[in-house]
This record gives sequence, structure tokens and C-alpha cells, in this order.
Amino acid sequence: MNDAYKELLATCKSVISNPMAYVAEWKSRNPGKKAVGFLPTYVPLEPIYAAGGLPVGLWGSDIPVAVADAYIQQFTCSLVRSVTEEAFTGMYDGLDAVLFPPICDSLKLVGSSWDLNLSGKFLVEFANLPERLDGAAAGTYLEAELRRVSKRINGESIEDRHFPQAIALVNRLRESMAGFCTWRSAHPVPFADVAAILKAATVLHADEYRTLVDKVLSVASAPAEPVHAIPIVVTGLSCQLPHPEMMRCFDEAGLSVVADDLFLGLRGTPAVEENGNPYANIAKSYCKSAPMAIRHTEHAKRHEQILEQIERNRAKGIVFMVPKFCEPEWFDLRYLQEEIRQRRIPNIVLDFEEGLGATGSLQTRLSAFAETLSLR
Ligand code: SF4
Repeated sequence: MNDAYKELLATCKSVISNPMAYVAEWKSRNPGKKAVGFLPTYVPLEPIYAAGGLPVGLWGSDIPVAVADAYIQQFTCSLVRSVTEEAFTGMYDGLDAVLFPPICDSLKLVGSSWDLNLSGKFLVEFANLPERLDGAAAGTYLEAELRRVSKRINGESIEDRHFPQAIALVNRLRESMAGFCTWRSAHPVPFADVAAILKAATVLHADEYRTLVDKVLSVASAPAEPVHAIPIVVTGLSCQLPHPEMMRCFDEAGLSVVADDLFLGLRGTPAVEENGNPYANIAKSYCKSAPMAIRHTEHAKRHEQILEQIERNRAKGIVFMVPKFCEPEWFDLRYLQEEIRQRRIPNIVLDFEEGLGATGSLQTRLSAFAETLSLR
């Protein structure tokens, strides 16, 4: 891999290993500006950037959960439990606000608990999305909600004149993520490294991220190294990642993840129109987001999205990675498997918890799956 890629990977790994150190360093460079944490996916970043702030994705870690158990049920997904542990042990004290997208019952409940217990440290607010993104009133509702949330996190309405630059910034961020995803589908990049690079897009300032990715893409015209692994698609990772050790099992089994839905709530939203009413434009774009387990729309179906990924990348199979205790993903799984089975596409289902590394049985299952695919 070239030096630009090595620099991108090293920076991304460093930032996601200690996001709050990056936040402290960014705040020292930008005195008086706010760092706004957000929980997974579907939180519009434009109002935060328009106020000169830094959006910070909170994705938890493999920290042992102890304190959080006093506030939430143990049958909550591992992402929610680990971010709650980090919040209640003071790791997010450098943030000025945290935004929750109420995309599932767990986040709705835990957001209220944070509000009750942590609002003395930072503002806790919900950025409510319409239940149906394609409903007749969705755009109007979301526009009003964006105005309300912007005012809450910034203390005053952000003047519309600050938006075009922020909208352009987030549009470029999405382009960088899309550009990297296209690049990686033709390069033998380990799955865990892809995840680290996409995850860092939600922590690094969009300008810094874009500069690093652009360098990689600008030297990518050199012929890619041949990919010998078996191409597959992974789905189920819209807001939670398996442990890097688990992801390494894919590479060791000879499987190359050429497409996935990592952080699709950010990168799966179409570019926002830069001129005109910014709130209406952002709302319009979000109402056209890519389908995910947590939001369904009529304009696109999730199984069609997966089939398109398989066809475009000539993938041989699909792995459903389903977070434990994630109701939206488990509800979707049955319908998705049915659609995939009808088309006789090989697939397996794996469940995972964020803090748990690989097991021998996982490696065996993935190796067996790879062997099946190699015989087709
Ligand atoms: S992984 Fe599932 S349960 Fe956990 S926050 Fe995301 S949607 Fe909610």
C-alpha cells in the first residue's frame, strides 16, 4: 500500500482509539467552539458544522461494563451499554452536548437516562426523525425539528448564511467516504482497516478527513494489487461494529469484504442542495436516505440495495452480522434472508457483541463458508 494510505490508516486508528484526546486537541485549536457528540447514524452534521462546531461520533469500545448496569438493562445492545459506561464514568466530559437519534427503543430509553443523570455535564438532546421518511409530512416535520435542535445545541438560531459552507463540507465528507469505498472494493484492504477508516469519518473534522482520503485517491491510479480472496458483502453494521479481532477472521478465512453498510446513515444520504432554505434542503436529503433496518422507505428496499452491491462487486455471498439485542436488525433479518434465499445466494448469519473478540468457532464457520463459496 502507498504512503498516503498508510498515513490515512495510522491517523484514523489513532483518532478512534482515543476520540476524546482528539476533541481536546481540536478545542485547544478552536477556542470557544463546541464539540457535539452524537449517537449512531442519522444525526445531521450540517447544523453542528454551521455553528463552527465539531461533531463527534460516539461508538463505544470494549471497556468492561459495570457502572452502566445500574442505569440500563443488561439485555441492551453492547454499543448502548458501552457508550453509557463511558458517559457515566466521565469519559465524555469534554463534550458540550450529545445528540440522540431515537432510532430504536434502546436509544430512546437510554437517552432519557442520560438527560436525567448527565445534563449537568453536557446538554442531552434528541434529534427526532420521522418514523416514515417517505411520509407526506416527513420533510416539513424534519425541517422544523432541525431548526429546533440547531437552536438547542447552539443556544441561538444559526444564521442561514453559515449553512452553504457547512453543507458543502458534509457533502464532500460523504464523497470522500464513497470514494474510499469504491477504492477499497478494488484493493486488498483488511476489513478491520476499512471499518477504522470509515469510523474515523465521524470523529475527525470533515476537512482533515477529506484531505487524507483525497491523497489516497489521487495516487490510486496505479494498478491495484490482484485480489485473490473471495468477494463477499456484509450487512447489519449500520451503527455497531464487531471487535477488530472478529473482523480479522474474514481475512484469515480468505474472504474479502467488498461492500457493507457501515455507517450508511451518514454516507447513504444524498448530497444536500447548497442553495436555498438549508433546513428544508437537509430534510429533503434525509428523506431520501438509503434504506436500513432502523428506517424503512418506499423509495428503496434494503434487499435491493444488497443485491445491487452483490452484482456491482461480483460478490459470491453475503454475511449477515447482527448485533445481539438489536431488535431492528433481527426483525429485518427474516425478510432479508427470504429475499436472498429466493435468489439462491449463499449466506450465513453471525451475531456479535462489540467488546467480544473472535472465537475459534467463528473462524471455523467463516472458513467453512469460504470453502463452500470456492466450490461454486
Ligand atoms: S445496534 Fe441496534 S439496538 Fe443498538 S443502537 Fe443500533 S439500532 Fe439500537
